[in-house]
Amino acid sequence: MKKYFSAVGDAMPAKTLHHGEHGGHGEIKKFSSCSPWFKPSFVGKRMRPKLQKFSLLLSMLVFFATALPAHAALNVFTCEPEWAALATELGGDKVKASSATNALQDPHHIEARPSLIAHTRNADLLICTGLELEVGWLPVLLQQSGNAKVAPGQPGNLEAGQFVPRLDVPSRLDRSDGDVHAAGNPHIQQDPRNIARVADVLSKRLAQIDPANAAYYQDRYKDFSTRWNAAMQKWTQQAAPLKGVAIVEHHKNMEYLMNWLGLRQVGTLEPKPGVEPSAAHLASLREQLQKQPAKMVVRAAYQDDRASQWLSEQAKIPAVVLPFTVGGDERAKDLFGLFDDTVQRLLEALK
Ligand SMILES: [Zn+2]
Repeated sequence: MKKYFSAVGDAMPAKTLHHGEHGGHGEIKKFSSCSPWFKPSFVGKRMRPKLQKFSLLLSMLVFFATALPAHAALNVFTCEPEWAALATELGGDKVKASSATNALQDPHHIEARPSLIAHTRNADLLICTGLELEVGWLPVLLQQSGNAKVAPGQPGNLEAGQFVPRLDVPSRLDRSDGDVHAAGNPHIQQDPRNIARVADVLSKRLAQIDPANAAYYQDRYKDFSTRWNAAMQKWTQQAAPLKGVAIVEHHKNMEYLMNWLGLRQVGTLEPKPGVEPSAAHLASLREQLQKQPAKMVVRAAYQDDRASQWLSEQAKIPAVVLPFTVGGDERAKDLFGLFDDTVQRLLEALK
């Protein structure tokens, strides 16, 4: 499987490592194996010439170390895997992208670990969905990193959610409605048209931060756009049978996908956004489905499968797990694979 970007090692559960593409620690080994040249052998008579050689070597190392930043890749750190994948599509080998979360983690809730703070500190560009999705941990990363380049409002900070038309913007905010986001539903990445919108902004932002490579980013963006538009046409055609199909979702995180494909939501496993499925709620959902049937119950790869499986058995409808973002399953290894697989899995459930 091709490695498109790396997820930050200790931010993900060990069980996700079986995919093989997210190792991420290979680079560290290089550093530990590059020390053998430093041996205290330059003692005694021949110390002077050895020392001269040594200082020459040192000055060369210093030269390369200081010369490196001009050619070094742009450090892109993202909150979610889809933005790291997009940065890699558009930035090629001029960027080094990694994500704070992986597809098997709930992006609402992760711990602001020291390794994530270190990544934020070293970032030239920070890309997050925003719309309050990361409100529980991103402010800590930003504050603790002390990296002014990626502070909100700076060119090094890109909030993807600002550049797409938002769904579910509440007309009133009430804590009793559950985990409702004032800025609208933040799960924007499951509509490929949103990916296209963010790609446009991101390609310009890369050129702004790294003007020396502006032409390179422009070329890659053109190439990506052509391939993406063709793929979107293909997906829309393939997904035509899904129009009007009723589904139950786990959390309100499929809204952009439903809006794109014309799916209809007739219930959620969560009684309120962010509140775990309860036995009472599931029982009433089963009742409701007898009058208003659904074709499938859909959840994201990171979500617990128990409620989904229960409803699937009770209502005799397939339970569908979608990758939800890049890395969510074997086929969703990049953004193209993400939508290929999403459409395919929904179509299979219809059969
Ligand atoms: Zn949510």
